[in-house]
Amino acid sequence: MEKKFYELPSLPYSYDALEPYISEEQLTIHHQKHHQAYVDGANNLLRRLDEARESDASIDYKAAAKELSFHVGGFLLHRFFWENMGPAGDNGGEPTGKIKEYIEKDFGTFERFKEEFSQTAISAEGSGWAMLTYCPLTDRLFIVQVEKHNVNLIPQCKVLLVLDVWEHAYYLDYKNLRPDYVEAFWNIINWDEVNNRVENL
Ligand code: MN
Repeated sequence: MEKKFYELPSLPYSYDALEPYISEEQLTIHHQKHHQAYVDGANNLLRRLDEARESDASIDYKAAAKELSFHVGGFLLHRFFWENMGPAGDNGGEPTGKIKEYIEKDFGTFERFKEEFSQTAISAEGSGWAMLTYCPLTDRLFIVQVEKHNVNLIPQCKVLLVLDVWEHAYYLDYKNLRPDYVEAFWNIINWDEVNNRVENL
């Protein structure tokens, strides 16, 4: 069997497609530099692990496990993130379909959900993510506040919607005003993609 590595995916839209909410410069750096860094970090670790196994050399297991979780987590979260956004006009606003039903069942109203998700994103200390997930055992939506790319994740919950609140995601456009960036996000959420994820639970 062939050993595979991670590859940077293309964005499903052009670099200026999310303006004025995310600028071309911000999105380009985020995708080409930051997302690429997680691809490289994960692949470098995989190569080091492969080499150590081939030569039967010892490795720092604790450091390797931590690095793997960080880089692979970062890589995968950015894939979810690009795909759950799209140009304003076709996207944003209130959801329809299954995700609307789930949100209203668990949160009561979309406004309540928006407030909880936004505050989860705004209150993340340092670098992290807000994430909407689905728990198959209770058929419930959970909002998760991920620290870095990997801390606070809940096993088996399916990822439906993510928002990157690392400073590298917004600093060129919003400086230190994370709440403004979080508010802008609601204009470019691709709810069709979120519904696709719900259909594939
Ligand atoms: Mn990021």
